[in-house]
Amino acid sequence: MISVSEARQLIQANTSLLEPISTPLYEANGRVMAEDLESTTDVPPFDQSAMDGYAFNYADFNANTSLAIMGEIAAGVFPQHKLLPQTAFRIYTGAQVPKGCDTIVMQEKVRVKEGHIYIEDSQLKVGANIRLKGSQTKKGELVLKAGTRISPGIAGFMAGLGVSQVMTFRVPRVGIINTGKELSSPGLALLPGKIYESNSYSLNAALRELHIKPAFMVCVDDDEAQTTKLIQEHLSHCDVMLLSGGVSVGDHDYVEQSLKNCGVEKIFHKVKQKPGKPLYFGRKGKRLFFGLPGNPAAVLTCYYEYVMPSLLQLMGIPVNTRSKILLPLRKAYSKKPGLTHFLKGKIHGHEVEVLPAQESYLMNSFAAADCIIQLEEEKNEFERGSLVEVHPLFQPLLIQK
Ligand code: AMP
Ligand code: MG
Repeated sequence: MISVSEARQLIQANTSLLEPISTPLYEANGRVMAEDLESTTDVPPFDQSAMDGYAFNYADFNANTSLAIMGEIAAGVFPQHKLLPQTAFRIYTGAQVPKGCDTIVMQEKVRVKEGHIYIEDSQLKVGANIRLKGSQTKKGELVLKAGTRISPGIAGFMAGLGVSQVMTFRVPRVGIINTGKELSSPGLALLPGKIYESNSYSLNAALRELHIKPAFMVCVDDDEAQTTKLIQEHLSHCDVMLLSGGVSVGDHDYVEQSLKNCGVEKIFHKVKQKPGKPLYFGRKGKRLFFGLPGNPAAVLTCYYEYVMPSLLQLMGIPVNTRSKILLPLRKAYSKKPGLTHFLKGKIHGHEVEVLPAQESYLMNSFAAADCIIQLEEEKNEFERGSLVEVHPLFQPLLIQK
């Protein structure tokens, strides 16, 4: 049996970046850029009015004189007009400043009378209220580097440069296979001996936090031949396969053998942890396979602790994006040494509470949790106030597919 940190390292070492694909900018939020971006244009592309007002030549500006209004320039039109001495143009925000004009006075600082303006702005300086061509970005400038994660701000910035497609690392296709003869779909009447299948619901929801829509979700009985057939059929439809249940050492646990039948190489099976001790990880080529121990709290814990970092890595998102914080325990806690414990927790300001109901078949504590607390393998006593590693859940990782 390997330790939690060994398991993490093995997963990291066997996870490789997916290939870059051309992505519509509209769908690229949260994805990682695979190439540097140079601007092909100046932004703004021309000298632009920053105000609704009047454009004129500062040399004509004199407190006692008036300027004749020669026409108007709206946003979106190219100004053909030529400025004559002692004249001005009505101009609107975003409009191109016509030749000969070097200053704009805002309309609130102007008195208009009989087709003339009288400027009442003692503070006005030459060049006022003009956004100069290229003042944000120059043509040919390196604006974003490969490895940058696209945010809403970056999406708007890129669109302003005229970009509509961007090379990003592909989002993985993730499939879910639930094993267990006892599983029944929520919404149906429960037959004797059956339970409601919930793991696909928690996994589906967690994947959608990364804006990954599962490629498939299927159930199979505890049967080696059927499980092998199902894995084989779905293999080529995913980059990552999540199998829930059937991964322990019981007589009806066929996941490891079925994966082997399909040519999947086992990287590890069993980790010194609670919950989720029977966790399995394997690969076939670049495809990754996680056998998640079926108890509902173990499935979701293993997802957050192992699967999610691997998915982030596949997309080129730095794994440390998932923040770890140290918080003092609200109450003393003791455990047996020898296994790392992952506990459902709740953050209260500057301290963290270990929630009751930690057994891996219970989901009520997960329903109340906002973090997972990691307690080291070798320690057994944790005093009140001792600092523990906390992994907050629900971080905004917005990746659209
Ligand atoms: P297993 O890992 O298959 O031995 O399952 C461990 C426990 O988790 C058993 O009580 C199963 O009934 C339960 N279980 C397995 N798969 C699911 C599932 N998809 N939804 C809810 N409970 C499950
Ligand atoms: Mg089972």
